[in-house]
Amino acid sequence: MKYLVLLCDGMADYHKGPLNDKTPMQLAHKPNIDFCAAHGEVGTIKTVADGFKPGSDVANLAVMGYNPELYYSGRSPLEAASIGIELSSTDIASRCNIVTLSDEDDYSQKTMIDYCADDISTAEADVLIKFLEEKLSEEDLHFYTGVSYRHCLVLKNALGGSFEATPPHDILDRKITEYLPENKRILELMKKSYELLKDHPVNLMRIEKGLRPANSIWIWGSGNKKEMPSFKSKFGLDGAVISAVDLIKGIGKLTEMKVCEVEGATGYIDTNFEGKADAAIKTFKEGTDLVYLHVEAPDECGHRFEAQNKIRAIELIDEKILSKVKAYLDSTNDNYKIMILPDHATPLCLKTHVSDPVPFVIYEKYNEIDSGVKSVNEDTAAETKIYVNEGYEIMSRFVKK
Ligand SMILES: [Zn+2]
Repeated sequence: MKYLVLLCDGMADYHKGPLNDKTPMQLAHKPNIDFCAAHGEVGTIKTVADGFKPGSDVANLAVMGYNPELYYSGRSPLEAASIGIELSSTDIASRCNIVTLSDEDDYSQKTMIDYCADDISTAEADVLIKFLEEKLSEEDLHFYTGVSYRHCLVLKNALGGSFEATPPHDILDRKITEYLPENKRILELMKKSYELLKDHPVNLMRIEKGLRPANSIWIWGSGNKKEMPSFKSKFGLDGAVISAVDLIKGIGKLTEMKVCEVEGATGYIDTNFEGKADAAIKTFKEGTDLVYLHVEAPDECGHRFEAQNKIRAIELIDEKILSKVKAYLDSTNDNYKIMILPDHATPLCLKTHVSDPVPFVIYEKYNEIDSGVKSVNEDTAAETKIYVNEGYEIMSRFVKK
């Protein structure tokens, strides 16, 4: 038996949006997803437990079968594992975005123009992060380069020093005044980063090219490392993750799953969809039982208010990933199961995540059922009345014989 989890980040949406009260799931042409829905189990699942913010961290941990109450302390420690940072249990890791802020003299009066500095490349970002490390690091404080705009700040032996801070993608176009971290040391770092980065040659070049400068860091998502049981010890299966983002790769590493690298996986609509399908097929052929294939694109389109791209992202997942992997699995004549779901909704109208339950589909090749659902979306999934209240129980439900 093989198992495919197709995690479509941020796919679910609200009706009140730019698409005449329809959702991207309703408008996307997705024959393969809908085939699985028609012949499988369809319902809704609460992936974000009460008391948690609706992040991809908490939601993906739950879908992978890990109760965030036990295994979550912040987003960054999960990403740090992917970057290859060895954290001790007393270190505090924080997400360090490089962002674009407006150019008022008073730092606290600036506006969050862009949480990703125009999708800065990893190569450019690496120069900036290394520059900050050179200028701002201290014995117990270090910067590490991640991917694109997503980097890491580690405070050594700082247990108890984790702090609340707002994700920058939640405050787009807003003044940062009331969202600045209360932690004085962190705030000071952010202010100093602006002075160091605003006229950095990398940024001067970006401005010349008409790109937004990466002129400040923004620190959030802090926490310490939690010990997690391996996926194999929990579910008895060899698992692998395929994703463009450090968060998912980090969870994979911490749970001792195989982490597959895919060339051209960007986390956006231009990602290498076929490459991800090929990686899944290759991994299955190598004997892996379960592949957790994560696609970030619908979420990014939600954050960017790109309605048509969000629809297209769902269609590309269906056409270039699901159809291909499913055709391979069919060709083996072995039984297999496919679970399709978002981690959370990223409604276009809000440009950020929400905690509402999301649709899920579980399909089994040699145990087809008639769900009565012709096309899965937020409404048809809710209508089945099948509801999973504890998100972290979905994995056991999926892999049970
Ligand atoms: Zn998101």
